[in-house]
Amino acid sequence: MLNEDGSLLTIGVLALQGSFAEHIAALKKCKVNTREVRLPSDIEGLSGLIIPGGESTAIRTLLQVSGLDKAIIKAKDKGLKFFGTCAGAILLSSKIEGESNYSFGFIGAVVSRNAYGRQLYSFEKEFDIKNIGKFNVIFIRAPKILYVGKDVEILARDGRDIILAENDSCLIATFHPELTGDLRIHKYFINKISKNKNAKK
Ligand code: GLN
Repeated sequence: MLNEDGSLLTIGVLALQGSFAEHIAALKKCKVNTREVRLPSDIEGLSGLIIPGGESTAIRTLLQVSGLDKAIIKAKDKGLKFFGTCAGAILLSSKIEGESNYSFGFIGAVVSRNAYGRQLYSFEKEFDIKNIGKFNVIFIRAPKILYVGKDVEILARDGRDIILAENDSCLIATFHPELTGDLRIHKYFINKISKNKNAKK
């Protein structure tokens, strides 16, 4: 698949820990070029980067050790777009409630980790998603997005909690669309990247 400006669209998936293989498989089904990202040099030429679910504390440490944290910040300044699922959403957010741990702060969102409590570690439920429709959502030790900034659009909620939101550079989900076999949220991200490229010209 091509960007709207005719260049090849490649979406990387951060492959340090967590459910990166499932995102790669989903992207392949969407017919986009994909790349597992493990080193700073893997960021080169990407139009988008998915930060998968997993354990945000482990992913953060590996980002710092590999030097990918700095490469990602540089790429964001050059226009790279991000899709964070679960732990990935935590790492893209601006504040983790009750923690002083680092997050990229690419999207104005306050998140609370493991916020569904022990008895509800993992569950599935159908939600109505703006621009997408009904979607079967899988939560695994999910965080909650408690608040978002003015420049952030809310795409789906679970009661008061926000489960899918976006700004110009990021799409964040507290759940795992890569585990459902439903490609509509990945396609939404791909579309967001190509639309954005076009708008920049
Ligand atoms: N509980 C994990 C964390 O806080 C996130 C879980 C997930 O990514 N499925 O990082």
